[in-house]
Amino acid sequence: MFVFVCAGCGAELTAPLSQVSLPVHARQKYGNGAQLPVLMQSGTFAVDPDPWGGPWRMWDEIDPGEAEARGIYAPVYTLSDSTPGASVIAPGDIRGTRLIPEKRGGACCGLDGADGPNMACEACDLPVATRVDDCSLWQAVRLSSDAVHRIPQDVLRDDPLPLLPNYLFRADRGTFQHTLVRLPAVRSPWLRTMLENLTHGTSADLF
Ligand SMILES: [Zn+2]
Ligand SMILES: [Zn+2]
Repeated sequence: MFVFVCAGCGAELTAPLSQVSLPVHARQKYGNGAQLPVLMQSGTFAVDPDPWGGPWRMWDEIDPGEAEARGIYAPVYTLSDSTPGASVIAPGDIRGTRLIPEKRGGACCGLDGADGPNMACEACDLPVATRVDDCSLWQAVRLSSDAVHRIPQDVLRDDPLPLLPNYLFRADRGTFQHTLVRLPAVRSPWLRTMLENLTHGTSADLF
């Protein structure tokens, strides 16, 4: 298990947490005005290897070589230019922070993190994390990789088995596209056709 501490002053910022993998639906947006649940199970954290949130760059501002170096092999509308490697946790596991009201973002009924980190260390005021809880987004706190350190703690625990789904699998369009454009094989004609159908909305059968 680990606790996260502020890189500025060493204050503890989380409860003790075990590392798990990032849920595949972490970037999913759902519905309009719908309140989504908390992304991470309490007591866990996951590292998100990809940048998330603003600042954004449009596809035509990005050199194809740079996109490929970032692991993206087919066009997307925009790419996040924020610092990658955030640790994602449940909002209830954060400790010793305060919200930064000026970093409210453009959200309507919660926080969307569009202005970058919106939570500061209570002890030293360093912006350390981004709380996300606006409608249509999975609720989470994202600890900035450049503002926190991870300290190991000697505690072992057993995780319960995951719940079984009670309905048939259906791919989420946005999650599917996010994954597809990161596969080098997306440049082969049959996958390329699938991607084009996806972005032109002609694959209703799949979704
Ligand atoms: Zn809203
Ligand atoms: Zn601090």
